[in-house]
Amino acid sequence: MKQHPTHSQPHIIAIANQKGGVGKTTTAVNLAGELARRGLRVLLVDIDPQGNATTSLGIAKTSLTVTTYDLLLGGAPPETIPRSSGRERLDIIPADQELAGAAIELVDVERREWRLRDGLVPLLQRYDWIIIDCPPSLGLLTVNALCAASAVLIPLQCEYLALEGLAQLKMTLERVRESLNPTLRILGVVMTMYDGRTNLAQQVVDEVQRYFPRLICRTLIPRSVRLSEAPSHGRIAYEYDPHGRGAQAYSLLTEELIGREERVV
Ligand code: ATP
Ligand code: MG
Repeated sequence: MKQHPTHSQPHIIAIANQKGGVGKTTTAVNLAGELARRGLRVLLVDIDPQGNATTSLGIAKTSLTVTTYDLLLGGAPPETIPRSSGRERLDIIPADQELAGAAIELVDVERREWRLRDGLVPLLQRYDWIIIDCPPSLGLLTVNALCAASAVLIPLQCEYLALEGLAQLKMTLERVRESLNPTLRILGVVMTMYDGRTNLAQQVVDEVQRYFPRLICRTLIPRSVRLSEAPSHGRIAYEYDPHGRGAQAYSLLTEELIGREERVV
């Protein structure tokens, strides 16, 4: 595999869309895995109390000792919180239901929007990329991800009303840029669960293309049963079905996003 140069500051990418079930976690896990496979040092941060990114990597929630909750609320020194995913160069800060409480507890905490960024500071030298899997809401957990991130990647499902809710997401991004993190960029919009056999999927892609001509990613992620099966085996798509269309698409998407990030730095 091709080695990419390492940077002194990692690329910190929040995978966000307040709409549920659009492919945020699938994208976060596969992007993180593909980056690590290319020789880059990667940290996946699960900031969703559902903990789907955690279980997708095959980590049992019962085995968790420290989680994103501790990173946000100072429950343990940040240096001790990442754990290996069992794969070379791929670490994770896992999450479980306890994180739902953090969203409430943070409200009265100083620098409440910056807790994730502050917690990540001592870890920055260890990684080339940090991928943050956001929950399906625009609450304080997602705001923490957007304040820690250098860029946001927005998965959109290829379905009717895909663009619904995007205005609200864009408003949140604007608000974060204006008052909290002025350098936050949109890395891209990635179309997920694309089914080339339906006219609807193509119409949705065309509409998004008109709406975001520069932001839409060239790579479309196909609807693939294998992609949806992999997490239940605790496997990343390239481990579960390396030659499948899903794994191949995430490999191409990763190349595309590395290219976009290299043009920025
Ligand atoms: P949530 O908002 O609940 O966090 P999410 O946006 O993280 O959801 P995922 O969990 O990645 O979305 O995906 C939702 C469901 O769709 C999961 O069961 C997942 O396995 C499945 N899925 C995701 N991407 C694909 C795909 N390309 N093809 C088929 N199934 C997919
Ligand atoms: Mg998810």
